Amino acid sequence: MNLNELIDLERGPRMALIQWLQRRYLLADPLNCAQCNQGMELTTRSQDHVDGFLWRCSGCRKRRSPRANSFFQEFSKLPLSTLIKVIFYFTLDDPQKRIAQALNLNQSVVSAICRRLQDVCSVDVQNRPFTPFGGPGAVVKCDESKFNHKPKYNRGRRARQASWVFGIVSTQYTPSRGYFQVVERRDAGTLLPLIQRCILPGTEVHTDDWAAYRRVNTLPNVAAHRVVVHARHFVDPRTGVHTQEVESSWSSLKLGQKRRKGLRKEDLQVYLDERMWWQWRGGGPDVIMRNFIAILQLQFPVDTPVP
Ligand SMILES: [Zn+2]
Repeated sequence: MNLNELIDLERGPRMALIQWLQRRYLLADPLNCAQCNQGMELTTRSQDHVDGFLWRCSGCRKRRSPRANSFFQEFSKLPLSTLIKVIFYFTLDDPQKRIAQALNLNQSVVSAICRRLQDVCSVDVQNRPFTPFGGPGAVVKCDESKFNHKPKYNRGRRARQASWVFGIVSTQYTPSRGYFQVVERRDAGTLLPLIQRCILPGTEVHTDDWAAYRRVNTLPNVAAHRVVVHARHFVDPRTGVHTQEVESSWSSLKLGQKRRKGLRKEDLQVYLDERMWWQWRGGGPDVIMRNFIAILQLQFPVDTPVP
């Protein structure tokens, strides 16, 4: 799937776009009437209307939008072609500002759509978890990093808000993949259960010398624990253990955070969920749109009968 295909769809008849979305199970085909227990019929409506079509039940005469049950329902004023393009750019990780410019949309509209797309990623990593990972022979690196937020108010007292994020990065993949969670505390009582839950038995764990990690080797799933002090050395000269993967994970997460203009505290975890989805489920630029469409299908079962 590429941009030219989407541009052709936008220029073609609206029905072709609806059928394209139906073939991908993103729109109902047909929409079913719960009351009459039958499929509804897709009929034309005023061509001034954004979709130009609606579902009509031949039994009870009810009418429904072609977007019923779908992701597109929530943004009913925007053309389907525009929404599918936002999804396309979103999966390519384009900045929201650039998406707004490319599609001639208000940035707050793009931000609202992208927030819902992030929620879809977030639900997917919860419903189909990629943890635990690692296992015999595998090495993971644990670290915490401080994320600053934009101030709540532009005037007056500018208390700098910050959150700690705990990360467990696998060294088995390039580009790297990890688990990232906002934590209230950086103590052993918080971090050790997270490590135990996220790794498979037999995993080797590398950390810095932060006190909370002192008892990592007592966790049942940890085969070995090595300490590298990266405040002083990028590569520990004694052990050769280095923290490069985790450092590059933090810098790419923070770059994305910066592009989103700092992110509010309450939006940080959903952003991390989106990045985790990207790392573990995205599958790379050639297939990511297809993979994203697959999770939209799971979360928006369009054939559900409508009351
Ligand atoms: Zn009916």
